[in-house]
Amino acid sequence: MTHIYDWYSVPDVLAVKCPGCGSAAVFEFADIRHIQRRKHVAAFKRSRAFEYHWFQNSWGNRWHGAVYYHGLRGTTHREAEHSLPKGYLPKGWAEGRGFRSHNPDFGTLCCPSCNIRRKHRLTWPEEAFFQVDYRGKTLWAFDRDSLNALRSFIASKDRKRMGTAWASFLFHIPGHFLSRKARAEISKKLDAIAKPA
Ligand SMILES: [Zn+2]
Repeated sequence: MTHIYDWYSVPDVLAVKCPGCGSAAVFEFADIRHIQRRKHVAAFKRSRAFEYHWFQNSWGNRWHGAVYYHGLRGTTHREAEHSLPKGYLPKGWAEGRGFRSHNPDFGTLCCPSCNIRRKHRLTWPEEAFFQVDYRGKTLWAFDRDSLNALRSFIASKDRKRMGTAWASFLFHIPGHFLSRKARAEISKKLDAIAKPA
């Protein structure tokens, strides 16, 4: 898996191809947090809102983590925050999604076409809904907004780096897709997938 997360600001919600029916589905990253004290592990294991995991980082160290899957459990995110064991400030949990880079692929998959709503481990960019092939390589976008930014960027004559904080992926497009002769073909393909189904 490509570690896109080290490079870009990734939206919380991605457009993915439904593994069940192939239609446009939505993947939302889970919130994953460190459980700081071993004595708190039991409380997280009991909790209805969180799922306990024993994670391993890339250096082989294990750590206790609590996973909150959006849109799945019988509790809202806010309720979950307030059911934290003593010493865990809800504020800290509500800010950002700190440990995504350790285990970036946990989340919830929702497909409106076949009514799937379940936990899912993301494989990116293979599961990107918006992707086009150009001479053996795949160019992808996170969601419709980033697809539109990508289309404007590829089509623009001066290739102004229109990257904003959220569109920082534009800075990382491989040269393979940016050659002058690639422009027309890629633009055409991007326009085709941009049409609403
Ligand atoms: Zn589906």
